[in-house]
Amino acid sequence: MEMANVRDAVNAVITAIMAQKDYLTAVDARTGDGDHGLNMARGFTAAEERLADLPPDAPVKDVLYHIGRAFIENVGGAAGPLYGIAFVRASEAVNDQTRLDVHSFEKLFTAGIAAIQRRGRAERGDKTMLDTLIPIRDAFRAENADGKSLRECLEDALNEGRAGAEYTKTIAARRGRAALVGPRSIGIEDPGAMSSLIMFRALCSYLRG
Ligand code: ADP
Ligand code: MG
Ligand code: MG
Repeated sequence: MEMANVRDAVNAVITAIMAQKDYLTAVDARTGDGDHGLNMARGFTAAEERLADLPPDAPVKDVLYHIGRAFIENVGGAAGPLYGIAFVRASEAVNDQTRLDVHSFEKLFTAGIAAIQRRGRAERGDKTMLDTLIPIRDAFRAENADGKSLRECLEDALNEGRAGAEYTKTIAARRGRAALVGPRSIGIEDPGAMSSLIMFRALCSYLRG
């Protein structure tokens, strides 16, 4: 797999989020306050500005750090600060030479998930972004990834993430604003689970070329 530059990968992710902004906001309006698409768009717009100052071949580490800081400094509510700290902690888990491969994907997602859980106290099954992110990460773990190429792992991870996001439709929210409506959130997908899926799906499409 040809690994093109990280900034182009991020641009693919930003484009996908912008295209789904209204959808994310509409789905959040059904169980929350209807701002998730706006929050994600605000975060990535700020990230774009910071990334414009980086060289095109900037390390994964730096790119993730700037996305995280952009979210932390510009986005309120639940998901903005959670994604922000996740990107920053993921960045801190790797070094300047780190490129995207099976092992670094596992490391990045593990660090990001730990940060989200430390801050948000949610578990898998609470109907949050974690229901997408944890299955994605697990696809890169040795027990599932051994003997597979990066391309195969990305495909597995995307399938697992999709299933995880889909599963959020069947459960009641136990964290975040949607927990206020609890069982009434059954039947509706979690906005954060969907934004995580949208970001990862765009990254996979970009990396597949
Ligand atoms: P807010 O709910 O403050 O308006 P957003 O609408 O941007 O923030 O984000 C809502 C999303 O944040 C939810 O769909 C869920 O995925 C995620 N979320 C909320 N609380 C938590 C938490 N404690 N842990 C993990 N994710 C959470
Ligand atoms: Mg909201
Ligand atoms: Mg809000």
